[in-house]
Amino acid sequence: MTACVLVVDDVPANVKLLEAKLSAEYYHVLTATNGQMALEIAEAEMPDIILLDVMMPVMDGFTVCRKLKANSRLHHIPVVMITALDQPSDRVEGLLAGADDFISKPIKNNPLFPRVRSLIRLKMMTDELRAREVTGKNLGLIDQPEWDEGKQLFGRILIVDDQTRSSARICSILSEAGHSPKAESDCAQALRLAKEGDFDLMIISLTMRNYDGLRLCSQFRTMDETRTVPLLIIVEDTEDSRLARGLDMGVNDYLVRPIENNELIARVRTQLRWRSYEERLRQNLHLSLQMAVTDGLTGLYNRRYMETHLQILMDRAKRDNRPLSLLMIDIDYFKNINDMYGHDVGDKILQQFAQGISRNIRGIDLACRFGGEEFVVIMPETDMAIASLVAERIRQFTETHAFDAGSGSSEATPIAMTASIGVTSLIGGDDTPALMLKRADMALYRAKSDGRNRVSEDVG
Ligand code: GH3
Ligand code: MG
Ligand code: MG
Repeated sequence: MTACVLVVDDVPANVKLLEAKLSAEYYHVLTATNGQMALEIAEAEMPDIILLDVMMPVMDGFTVCRKLKANSRLHHIPVVMITALDQPSDRVEGLLAGADDFISKPIKNNPLFPRVRSLIRLKMMTDELRAREVTGKNLGLIDQPEWDEGKQLFGRILIVDDQTRSSARICSILSEAGHSPKAESDCAQALRLAKEGDFDLMIISLTMRNYDGLRLCSQFRTMDETRTVPLLIIVEDTEDSRLARGLDMGVNDYLVRPIENNELIARVRTQLRWRSYEERLRQNLHLSLQMAVTDGLTGLYNRRYMETHLQILMDRAKRDNRPLSLLMIDIDYFKNINDMYGHDVGDKILQQFAQGISRNIRGIDLACRFGGEEFVVIMPETDMAIASLVAERIRQFTETHAFDAGSGSSEATPIAMTASIGVTSLIGGDDTPALMLKRADMALYRAKSDGRNRVSEDVG
């Protein structure tokens, strides 16, 4: 996973050190040596994460962080403060300024890289949702006030820990701060509660005697009901290799024992803020947007949405120098099916075909009904070779699937059909949605003229 990291520090040697470490991990590194410069670069380059020194002349890191978080274009970029300060009060001030983490020097002993990886991964999900919100706004479907970064948030919080004194203390701190905590010491019971509980955050101890807390985290990450609920783990010290494992597995944040009251509150607040922001993005996506941009028959996105969103995905892929591919799919001799079984049966088959496409692509791919019996799939982060494999999978599904004419048909035999698919990929800075669609259409035309029921790559 490559990403753009902005390193901010007034001491050139510190910048160099981090830059070297990050470059060795294949990150693209930008640097700034003061706060003002950091804000300007962030605005111009939109990095994926910012590593921010606290003590700088003129504008300190706390101020920079607050300014970033107050900017609606930048507030979703994770910030990790890196500092020689290690008083709990500094840490809390950093977290309250909106930083996602506060890591003390020397970095060697701290989980900086797992942390950076985990925050970048979380941001990519948010980016996808944000991109869809932008599309919704461009289409005039979403009309909401700006996100209020400072809003007070209270949450339902599940605490899983068999050290009952510790969890009772956490509960009382959280209750006092206005949250609704619930403590559970038995993991099987915790799983059950989490399924039904509609929690906004789960705090899990990694030091339980009878259960591996990381296993519990992984179970929460795989269950549908808890997949998007933030997880905060409690560890004994930052050198615990399981902390790094947890972060790599999708844990959102961590607390180190002994737990400091204000730090607990600050980290909980940060997670609830992310949660609430993501929920809002998701709701926007599901409510307003979904209705107006989906195709009534198949439930896929409609053409208008796809064309607007393709532009955004292309801009992003060009900026990040990432691949992007597109499939144009057309059912073979569909007219015959209408003629033989009637238009209603044809409609049902189009629905089943759309479901088949959706089942054969990833969650971040976007499937749309382009018109009649033609479909388009946009695949971010995907090159031509992989896109062709996906196309081939869809072609095979179509050829082997027994399409169902449904009740009311005198024909008991399932309906067989095939599809032809054209594949194209983003080719460079001058590419446009219209050009990509045109190339995919030409490849599709070739698949048709070469005999149908086949995948054809755009050959330029
Ligand atoms: P080809 O292999 O060349 O693609 O042949 P084809 O018959 O699939 O292509 P053609 O473009 O000639 O015909 C498309 C047919 O799809 C004609 C039209 O009646 C049918 N069709 C388009 N939209 C719908 C729809 O919403 N419902 C149904 N039932 N049929 C549709
Ligand atoms: Mg057709
Ligand atoms: Mg057609």
